[in-house]
Amino acid sequence: MMYDYLIVGAGLFGAVFAHEAKKHGKSCLVVEKRNHIAGNIYCKNVDGIHVHQYGAHIFHTSDRKIWDYINQFSEFNNYINSPVAIYKDELYNLPFNMNTFSKMWNIQTPAQAKAKIAEQIADLGITEPKNLEEQALSLVGTDVYEKLIKGYTEKQWGRSCRELPSFIIRRLPLRFTYDNNYFNSRYQGIPVEGYTAIVEKMLSGADIRLNTDYFAHKEELSALAHKTVFTGMLDEYFGFCYGSLEYRSVRFEEERLECDNYQGNAVVNYTDREVPYTRIIEHKHFTFGTQPFTIISREYSSEWKPGIEPYYPINDAKNSALAAKYQELAAKAERVIFGGRLGNYKYYDMDQVIAAALDCADAELS
Ligand code: FAD
Repeated sequence: MMYDYLIVGAGLFGAVFAHEAKKHGKSCLVVEKRNHIAGNIYCKNVDGIHVHQYGAHIFHTSDRKIWDYINQFSEFNNYINSPVAIYKDELYNLPFNMNTFSKMWNIQTPAQAKAKIAEQIADLGITEPKNLEEQALSLVGTDVYEKLIKGYTEKQWGRSCRELPSFIIRRLPLRFTYDNNYFNSRYQGIPVEGYTAIVEKMLSGADIRLNTDYFAHKEELSALAHKTVFTGMLDEYFGFCYGSLEYRSVRFEEERLECDNYQGNAVVNYTDREVPYTRIIEHKHFTFGTQPFTIISREYSSEWKPGIEPYYPINDAKNSALAAKYQELAAKAERVIFGGRLGNYKYYDMDQVIAAALDCADAELS
């Protein structure tokens, strides 16, 4: 059979495209190199706890159209992301808000907090930040930087903040209200059936081949469809002809614990350098689980090298220039559409990847 579309990658981009194509009466073959669908939003159900295998995923958007779109596939709960940070033996609310400042300086009013931060910034006398450390210090002062930013950022990047460029942190939002809601988005929640069920519904009606690496069967698979939607790595598609695009990676260490509540919150950041992981996720709290056991994941930020899972594109000058060269090739490729975080070499939140896939489907199918 000749399909209308061969979709490489059963992640959110590929699934939204497949769903839209099906609505237009088109046929799709989806190939996925992993042994499961849903890409990085895959959740496995462990005795009733949805474990976010590739990192915690909280859906949030301010776009009503995207919120309505995703709600077709699952009901969402009223989870609000309110992470906390542990620095040595001190615990602070995130994002940086009046709860954080009140705990840090034993103050109560926004005016007191603003005065404290302004005083610390003035004492430093930084006029032109030369690196990330100076940039962050000039935005939030010494205490917030030392306790909540420095160690965490150094673990994330594997380098000292003095060696990191200032552009990584352009702004550091400070909130002068007692509000621990991490996101400013209008809509937020976790799908009650889990993300994998959403993708399963999106893909219904498409033929799916798991454990199938497109590059191992490129000619044969491409010949099965009129057009290819490629959501794998952009540079790999072109045989790395200009060299490899770089990423930061994350390693997840999962543990089942025979206690009902390990840390009292879904997300706890560890902001001192000495603790080797950046965060611990306790998955049951995303869905207010009441199981007698719990599952946690420790997240270790790591260097990426070819062969390990790529997570975050690096938006420095070198990689941006390289990506632009590959994007020129992609624009000229015939009968291939490039999409998603790997195909566009771009960090997308889930709502952004849905919007990009809908735009792409609209341009292609209407
Ligand atoms: P993917 O999910 O990566 O799908 C691409 C698929 O293509 C993969 O399944 C891959 O195996 C497959 N593939 C690649 N190459 C081949 C090949 N050669 N042959 C066959 N198959 C191939 N977003 C939010 O909105 N909220 C969050 O809280 C959030 N948290 C995140 C946490 C982490 C740690 C990370 C890394 C991202 C987070 N995101 C979050 C972003 C979210 O993960 C992405 O928006 C989304 O998963 C992107 O979907 P995608 O289809 O583009 O990519």
